[in-house]
Amino acid sequence: KEPWLGTPAATTEVLKKYGFHFQKRYGQNFLIDPRVLRKITAAADIGPEDCVLEIGPGIGTLTQYLAFQAKKVYAVEIDDALIPVLQETLKGWDNVTVIHNDILKMDLHALVRDQNEGKPVKVVANLPYYITTPILMGLMEKEVPFTSITVMVQKEVADRMRAEPGTKEYGALSVAVQYYTVPHPAATVPPNCFIPRPNVGSAVISLEKRAERAVAAANEQLFFQVVHASFEQRRKTLLNSLKNARGLSFTREQIQEAIAVCGFPENVRGEALDIHQFAALTDALCSCQE
Ligand code: SAM
Repeated sequence: KEPWLGTPAATTEVLKKYGFHFQKRYGQNFLIDPRVLRKITAAADIGPEDCVLEIGPGIGTLTQYLAFQAKKVYAVEIDDALIPVLQETLKGWDNVTVIHNDILKMDLHALVRDQNEGKPVKVVANLPYYITTPILMGLMEKEVPFTSITVMVQKEVADRMRAEPGTKEYGALSVAVQYYTVPHPAATVPPNCFIPRPNVGSAVISLEKRAERAVAAANEQLFFQVVHASFEQRRKTLLNSLKNARGLSFTREQIQEAIAVCGFPENVRGEALDIHQFAALTDALCSCQE
């Protein structure tokens, strides 16, 4: 079955038929450009063996493109009003299961275990932008079994995910994403590829799961606390950021010592450190606590 949704005309017809009203609170911007839809499935590298988890199918546009290539698609949609629409637009697409739920409240481990025998899935989505970070961090931190996550996000967020140390885009999100995955930018997408048009530029980015974390910090929880604290107030030195951080109780002397042990300049700022240096700093802080 060939995908037939994805053009402006087909989309408008479906929306009209159901008298559908876009809900801003659900971040609804539907794709209406077949070239972009093909770019997403190509970046996700979907094949006949793949089980796909789609977040927010909307009226089922990307879902059809995914189902055309995948073995199986699970599509999770929160909006009640879209469920009857999906029943019709995906009629005859026997390898699609629509799940009416909030992606942030689901036990995705159970889904993968029960529906794909625990084998890792590919996550693909034109994400609702208001919850981009909680969705992605949830998938990575909770160790949901996935091989890749290919998503449409705000262009600025895609830039932050793959940013290098010392740039203004570099922050806690860059470190977290690069800790668990290798990001591959796939396309930039202008607002006119969506209905309604978002007021920001968008980009498709593919996050390839690493077999091992990028670095081995002795204490992972402390590693992320240190990373978050380091970027909380960008103009501060690392020393002051860590000294004033909520949840951390290192003395000024302990932090100074850890910075010195790592060989960083005394007045170093968090944004200068790469992921390996954050891990080294965390380990040095751990040992001065002992
Ligand atoms: N995939 C469609 C497309 O590309 O045309 C729609 C993408 S639209 C940007 C985001 C979709 O996510 C909407 O259908 C919205 O209702 C849904 N959504 C928003 N919050 C959600 C949540 N917490 N759980 C599941 N779906 C959600």
